[in-house]
Amino acid sequence: MKYIPKGHEPATFSDWKAQANENWKPTWNTLRGSEKSGVHQALLQEQGYICCYCGMRIDLNTSHIEHFKPRKHFPELALDYKNFLSSCPGEGQDNAEGILRNPDPNQLETPILGEHCGHQKASWYNPDLTVSPQTPNCADYFRYTGLGEILPTDDLALHSAAQETIRQLRLNHPKLEASRRSALQGIVAILSDSSISSVELQKLADAYEQTDSEGKYVRFCGAVSYLLRQYSA
Ligand SMILES: [Zn+2]
Repeated sequence: MKYIPKGHEPATFSDWKAQANENWKPTWNTLRGSEKSGVHQALLQEQGYICCYCGMRIDLNTSHIEHFKPRKHFPELALDYKNFLSSCPGEGQDNAEGILRNPDPNQLETPILGEHCGHQKASWYNPDLTVSPQTPNCADYFRYTGLGEILPTDDLALHSAAQETIRQLRLNHPKLEASRRSALQGIVAILSDSSISSVELQKLADAYEQTDSEGKYVRFCGAVSYLLRQYSA
């Protein structure tokens, strides 16, 4: 999980909410069109085009707007930009099977029944156990194996929340774990090259924590930089 510093909400979204009057109130279900896509685009930019929970590559077509504190329990935050994140659908980018399994054809806002991340999380939220990507040290809760598994840190103060977040969001879903493993393959090869120094590994880890010229992170960059730092220590 990578820390997401929240920016300001788009002006188009603020202006839309400001149109509220006694006959019309802005609601989540009436947010659509350019106002909604503007919010979605702003979220993608501040996240560097990776899923807020798993780090998979996402774009406008392969993600949804996620309420970190679920609307079911926090209706007052339904239009709070600080409560918005962008999550992958839970089955990868090209999985038609996920779309076909959608049980509710009227639920156009969330067309895919995901098996991990935002759709899996659904209305789960526990203030003590849900690790937030908006917490600056959120990456410290997790560790990774070279085989693509995500595990809770050994730090006892963070362990329970990490364990429960991994379980509730199914961050070790077999398809997700396989994607993470494939992203780590090149790194594992680098780590087995004994001619690379610790300093070089640290520089490489630093590079993976930066976005490219298009403002995008490499997919699963958190897992990649974690492994590099482990071997550079
Ligand atoms: Zn995800």
